[in-house]
Amino acid sequence: MRITAIRLQRLRLPLDPPFYAAWDPVPRRSFEATIVRVETDEGVVGIGSGDTMTGFEEFAHLFIGEDPFSIARHVRAIETTAFHGARYWPLEAALWDLIGRAVGRPCAELLGGSVARVPAYASWGELRSAEQRAEDAVALLEDGLRAVKIRVAPERVDEGVAVVAAVRAAVGERLEIIVDLNQWWRMAGDVGRGLGPVDALRVIERVREHGVLWVEEPLPGGDLSGMRALRQATGVRIAGGEMVRTFDELRAALDADALDVYQPDVVLALGISSARTFAELALRRNRWFTPHTWTNGIGLLANLHLCAGVGGGPFIEYPCDPPGWTLERRDFMLATPLMADREGGLRLPEAPGLGVQLDEEAVAFYAVDSEAVTT
Ligand SMILES: [Mg+2]
Repeated sequence: MRITAIRLQRLRLPLDPPFYAAWDPVPRRSFEATIVRVETDEGVVGIGSGDTMTGFEEFAHLFIGEDPFSIARHVRAIETTAFHGARYWPLEAALWDLIGRAVGRPCAELLGGSVARVPAYASWGELRSAEQRAEDAVALLEDGLRAVKIRVAPERVDEGVAVVAAVRAAVGERLEIIVDLNQWWRMAGDVGRGLGPVDALRVIERVREHGVLWVEEPLPGGDLSGMRALRQATGVRIAGGEMVRTFDELRAALDADALDVYQPDVVLALGISSARTFAELALRRNRWFTPHTWTNGIGLLANLHLCAGVGGGPFIEYPCDPPGWTLERRDFMLATPLMADREGGLRLPEAPGLGVQLDEEAVAFYAVDSEAVTT
């Protein structure tokens, strides 16, 4: 089998009302997604999405004419392109989808086949009042969810701690609470210093009083020794690594024993194969592996297949914060949004590959430019 064409299709969903992402000072009035389709001479097509694939067209020829099953070669080739450009991991996701479709098995089975369902944590994206969040948390419980991630803005710590306290008071022990400070994450142009270790320690101590499953990215810039010191000083699990650019960056975190919870996103950070290798290392050390997955429904499927394949967890990220971030917005290119079951878990689709079923009408409607096709 040979790759005959790679098609990129860029979509833009208008967001009205906007989505007020906690990590972005600018309200988001549109949501961009790029669909990657890998075509073959045998008619099998693989689909991926995640990173925007900006600039990929100049590298696409590196993959045309190759056997899609040569996944190790493709991973190395994508690594060389990422050295020069963006994060082209949606291509690898599309290749895994293609391989799964070609052999008639879900990707999770090809990646280890550990489980068919992963409990989900609702990942909130906006900053809202404590009163509102107490209500939102009760609604999650009614939907069957058993864990939630709350953003605490480093410059609004008192408000964030009040939200954590209000949610705990509203739900008791029925919901696990995760706190994300998003300090390892930067908008382009954000040159602020962020919280230092003393302030981060104080925040963790304050949210610890309310019982938290983990605290994510408490320090800026991948400060590995700082994060190790925080986990040792507080006894609270520290999470991170969602946007690393290389395998070695995450391995350095493991070697430094900086984190309890490792979160590389397979369509942004490491790709499926390298994240799988990393997951094996982390799980053998009895650390948690649970990928970040804040892109779209296809990215969520790719991360879910890997997480289920390697036996990660205990929860997987499930972006869900209506009305700002609904499943319909997140998965606007899919025929049906990926939805947690009544017990708050994400079950793998039974279809082969990643189980992506596009809503072709929506894809055509929200397409913003002519397709870029490399043959
Ligand atoms: Mg995060």
